[in-house]
Amino acid sequence: MARNFGKIKISDYARLSINPLRKITQEQKIDPNPAKRSITLQLGDPTIFGNFPPPVALISALSNAVVHDKFPYNISYGKFEARQAVAEYSKHQGEISPDDVILSSGCSHALEMTVLTLVQPGENVLIPRPSYNYKTWIDGMKIETKAYNLDPEKSWDIDLVQMESLIDDKTRAIIINNPGNPCGNCFSKEHILEIIALAERRQLPIVADEIYEHFVFPGIEYHSISSLSKNVPVLTCSGLSKRFLVPGIRMGWIIVHDRNGVLDEVKQGLRNVSARILGPNSTVQYALPDILQNTPQRFFVNKMMKISYNADLAYELLSKIPGLKPIKPRGSMYMMIQIELDKFPEFQSCLEFTQQLIREQSVLVFPGHPCFNYPGFMRIVLTVTDGMIKESCRRLKEFCETHAKL
Ligand SMILES: *Cc1c(COP(=O)(O)O)cnc(C)c1O
Repeated sequence: MARNFGKIKISDYARLSINPLRKITQEQKIDPNPAKRSITLQLGDPTIFGNFPPPVALISALSNAVVHDKFPYNISYGKFEARQAVAEYSKHQGEISPDDVILSSGCSHALEMTVLTLVQPGENVLIPRPSYNYKTWIDGMKIETKAYNLDPEKSWDIDLVQMESLIDDKTRAIIINNPGNPCGNCFSKEHILEIIALAERRQLPIVADEIYEHFVFPGIEYHSISSLSKNVPVLTCSGLSKRFLVPGIRMGWIIVHDRNGVLDEVKQGLRNVSARILGPNSTVQYALPDILQNTPQRFFVNKMMKISYNADLAYELLSKIPGLKPIKPRGSMYMMIQIELDKFPEFQSCLEFTQQLIREQSVLVFPGHPCFNYPGFMRIVLTVTDGMIKESCRRLKEFCETHAKL
């Protein structure tokens, strides 16, 4: 006799692995206004509109790799030539040997491997607020996150006093995202030195999410955290996704910046962890030296000029809208906009504001909460066309003028 199955249960690990951004784009079904063409300023994916194509050198490197790679299992933490190329490409971070590099399937995988190597269930790690969706892969491991505040009034610098007050005897690492998502922050050298001094005083390693390395607007200086750290060990995570405009390629890496041998075990731990899924895609590893060496500087310069143009344009247009307060970004590809909710009594939250914006104006943006743990704000992406920036700002103006009670 066949017996009926009961519902199969899932693990806490699966239940707690929630990505609020994907949840909104994949599950939130709000119908846009059929009379207006949708403009989506949601996902940080520059490939959507065709205006930010990847480097030509990357396409030829990949085509060549498809012909010549034998698709082997490589050393799980990455083929030597690929790690050597990453070490060379990242020398602005300090002196790096290929031995210090661990390849991963994208930067999020690099971050996950790093945090899970440093932190046990029951312990905690500091993350920014507002923040990228670090909790997606931390919560499921029963690791606690404690959020330190970024201050929009101070170009999103960290509130270091509040940050330090979060640290306890179970804190194992500080995640710093610079240049940052969703804020577009880029910390000054002085501020980074203050962060490093705090980490040194409290004896904590820094996990530096530098997926937006060099990704700053004209006139802004970018400093990698490791390049300024004498004594604090830094684990820097980056990859191809954003700087080379190929998020789907899934190639990232960790660079272990040891100080005085304190990361010996961590490096071995990271290699152990990389063996869990036997390393990232071999063909992209094969192409990596060519991609990193042959992409011309002007590719990056052109890209940043376009994004910076969009940032200025959006900032100027949004500044004039009653009830909105854009915060000027210094890098990456996003802008945060404060919604003065007291002027919009119809809406209880930024989520309700952004949902109604879809229904009326067909403009899709991410609300600060639940997406970035930052109520009262919304985030837009800047890798759309300038026409889309103008049209979406025009519609935002109409929306705010309709709903604001001044
Ligand atoms: C996009 C992004 C990542 C993840 O990059 P992948 O290489 O696509 O995994 C990590 N951190 C931040 C801040 C990002 O914006």
